[in-house]
Amino acid sequence: SMSQDSRAREALKGDLREVLSRSDSPASKVEDIGDVGQLEVHYQPIHSSAPSADFCGAEALVRWRHGRLGLLSPDKFIALAEEGGLIVQLGNFVLREACRAALLWPEDSFVAVNVSPTQLQRETFETEVMTILKETGLAPSRLELELTETALFDLDCNAQAALSRLRAEGIQIALDDFGTGFSSLSHLMHFGIDRVKIDRSFVGLLGTEAKGATIVSAIVGLSRDLGIASTAEGVETAGQRDFLAAVGCTVLQGYFFSKPLPKDAFLRYLPQTDRA
Ligand code: C2E
Ligand code: CA
Ligand code: CA
Ligand code: CA
Repeated sequence: SMSQDSRAREALKGDLREVLSRSDSPASKVEDIGDVGQLEVHYQPIHSSAPSADFCGAEALVRWRHGRLGLLSPDKFIALAEEGGLIVQLGNFVLREACRAALLWPEDSFVAVNVSPTQLQRETFETEVMTILKETGLAPSRLELELTETALFDLDCNAQAALSRLRAEGIQIALDDFGTGFSSLSHLMHFGIDRVKIDRSFVGLLGTEAKGATIVSAIVGLSRDLGIASTAEGVETAGQRDFLAAVGCTVLQGYFFSKPLPKDAFLRYLPQTDRA
């Protein structure tokens, strides 16, 4: 029933609050993770579409290894975190973890981190990002922040200015899930972005529907003409890789290369990639 469902949500929200408060304390140990488990950040590799398939970087994706419920995907708890006022704490946890992890990767690689609209709107966002970079020692140019179109459009002048300053520090700004919103690329130029991530719903049409090829090559071409880089998400087949390479999309992410991997598995994955 509805009330059972909402009770379960409230319980999970409580668990999330607890697991986050533990994640913040340096004393947290894997042995006493208990019922609520622990938050983990997994990393999905991003590669060049060239035949060499050079490793470019990875996207940080949060998971919750819940003590009773098993491994929970972000779809199961990001909305809860928003509702419960926990998204900022969650976002900063992921950002800190991701910056630390990237220190062990090749120096010319980047780590991409998802930023929720709520985080972006906060006055303290800029300071929080810069503090985490200083604390961890990661070069700003190695961090990419992934924002959504709606988040970008909802920003007030102050938040827009803060984002420009972060960009001036060398941080890269990427527009996530591109093509699913209503904005035109030329309009987006105004906000100063470095990259669009072509949504996997379009990439998934490649090879099955002619429309997919038209949409994808249009996005790649237009962004290139505007001086914006593009990454294709959800690349699952060699055929998709070949098509994307042919239309000039140079950076790819998807199961064709690898699923998101836990931190240590990701480090084992790295040596197999071209690090030269
Ligand atoms: P997203 O940012 O669009 O992330 C890409 C999603 O596509 C990931 O799902 C990834 O596992 C999945 N994916 C990657 N390659 C493929 C592929 O080849 N085929 C298919 N079918 N799927 C692929 P995931 O990890 O479940 O994350 C879901 C969403 O949760 C993310 O979508 C992002 O919006 C959100 N999210 C994840 N981590 C965070 C976080 O730290 N903060 C915030 N605010 N949101 C996050
Ligand atoms: Ca990216
Ligand atoms: Ca993303
Ligand atoms: Ca995406």
